[in-house]
Amino acid sequence: MQYVSTRSGTATSSVPQSFSDILLGGLAPDGGLYLPAHYPQVTAAELNAWRKLSYADLAYEVLKKFATDIPDADLKALTQKTYTAPIYCNAREGDDPREITPLHVIEDMDGRAGTTLILQALSNGPTLAFKDMAMQLLGNLFEYTLAKHNGELNIFGATSGDTGSAAEYAMRGKKGIRVFMLSPHKKMSAFQTAQMFSLQDPNIFNIAVEGVFDDCQDMVKAVSNDLAFKVHQKIGTVNSINWARVVAQVVYYFRGYLSATTSNDQKVSFTVPSGNFGNICAGHIARMMGLPIDKLVAATNENDVLDEFFRTGVYRVRKSAETYHTSSPSMDISKASNFERFIYDLLGRDGERVCALFRKVETHGGFDLSGKPGSDGDEFKKVAQYGFQSGKSTHQDRLNTIRDMQDDFDLMIDTHTADGIKVAREHMVPGVPMIVLETALPAKFNETILEALGRDAERPAGFENIEALPQRFEVMGVDMVKMKAFIAGHTGL
Ligand SMILES: *Cc1c(COP(=O)(O)O)cnc(C)c1O
Repeated sequence: MQYVSTRSGTATSSVPQSFSDILLGGLAPDGGLYLPAHYPQVTAAELNAWRKLSYADLAYEVLKKFATDIPDADLKALTQKTYTAPIYCNAREGDDPREITPLHVIEDMDGRAGTTLILQALSNGPTLAFKDMAMQLLGNLFEYTLAKHNGELNIFGATSGDTGSAAEYAMRGKKGIRVFMLSPHKKMSAFQTAQMFSLQDPNIFNIAVEGVFDDCQDMVKAVSNDLAFKVHQKIGTVNSINWARVVAQVVYYFRGYLSATTSNDQKVSFTVPSGNFGNICAGHIARMMGLPIDKLVAATNENDVLDEFFRTGVYRVRKSAETYHTSSPSMDISKASNFERFIYDLLGRDGERVCALFRKVETHGGFDLSGKPGSDGDEFKKVAQYGFQSGKSTHQDRLNTIRDMQDDFDLMIDTHTADGIKVAREHMVPGVPMIVLETALPAKFNETILEALGRDAERPAGFENIEALPQRFEVMGVDMVKMKAFIAGHTGL
C-alpha cells in the first residue's frame, strides 16, 4: 500500500511513500496530509469472519490492509500487545474489560419505537479518553520501527489536556523515545495536571510554561520551523494528523458495527463528537472501505466550524480570539486539521484544487463549495453521498443531556459525549441503530458533572487520590533559548 499527499499532483508534490515511511511523520513535504493511494475494500465474507474476533485480532486484520510493509507476525504481536486487558481496565461496573470498547444499548430512545441509541465506550484506557485507543498502538509501532534501525525520536508537543496525557501514557518507558510536553502553567484542571505530572518515567518531561496554551503552541511551531535544530535533535510530533493514529481509529467503527449487528444486510449510523476531524475521518475511511455505515454525524460544541460546513458548504475557520472556551474543551478548535483528507475525496482526489483551497484558508480564512455565484465549487451537493450530517450543542444542552442520561438510563456521561448524544437524537431514524462514540469518561470533566447533577463523577479504581501523588515537572517562561537548551541537555544530542 502506497500513500499519497492530499496535495499530490502539484508542483511541490511528494512521491508516494510506504506506511513505515510516514509512520513517524506529520505533514507531507508539500504541506498536504497522507492518505492511501486507494482504499482497501472489505468483502462480505471478511466481515462475517471478523464478527467472532477479539478487538486485538480485528485491529490486526484492519491494520494489515494498510501497513503492508510490516511483516504479519510483527503486526500481530504489536496489536496483541496493545489491545489486551487489563490495560483497558477502567470499564464501567458490569462491563467486561476484555471487550475493550463495550456497547451500551438503549432501545426505543425518547419513547420512539424502533430507534436504538448505542453508546460505544472508547474511554477505558489509561487516561480515560478515546485518544488512548489509537495512541497506545502508536507507542508500540514507534518503538518497533525505531528499534529496527537503532533510531531515536524526541516528541515535542503542546497540550491543553487530553492529547498530551494520552501521548505520555503511550510513550512512557518506550525505548528510543522521549516526550517533551508543554502545557500552560496552572491552567489545566487538577485532575489532568495530576495525570500528566505524576508520571515518573525518566523519558517523560513535563514543561509547565508560564503563559497560555497559544504560547505553548507557538513554541512548538518555532521549533518545527527551525529545521537545523529539529533534525539534529530528532524532533517529531504525535499530532492528530498522523496517519497511523487515524488508521488505528478505523478499527473503532468496525468493532462498533460488528458488535451492534448480526448480519451484513444491517446498517448503522455513527455520531462522533468532533474537533480536529480525526476520529470521524476514520469513520469516513471505514465507510469507503465498504463497511455498511449509513450516516456519519459530526457533533460540534459552540465551536461549530464543521457543523457550518455540513449545513452550508462554507468552510470558515475561526481566529483564536473567536474560539469559545467551553465545557467540552477537547472540541474547542478554530480549524479542523484533518478536514483536508475528506475534502480530497470530495473533490475527486484533485490535489491541485485541494492545494488551492487550503492556500485560500491561509489567505482568506476559508472556502466555499456551496455552488452559489462566486463560490469555489459546487461539490457540497455531493456531501450527502458520503453520508455526512451534522449538528451542534451548547453548554445548556450538555447539562440537560447529562441529566437525562443519568435519570433515564443510569448512565453517567462526560461533556463531549453529551454533545454527541444531543446531536445524535436529532438524526435518529427507526430501524438504523445510532452508535455514539463515547470519547471520555466523566471523571475528567467533573466540574460540569457537579453542575449538572449536584454530585461528583465516579472515579475508576486507582484514580481516587491522583492529585496527592508526587509530581515531576519543570516550570519555564516563554523563552525559546531556555527551551532549546533544556531539550538538548536531556537528549544529549
Ligand atoms: C480529542 C477529543 C475529541 C475530538 O476528536 P477529533 O478527532 O479531534 O475530532 C472529542 N472528545 C474528546 C474527549 C477528545 O479528547
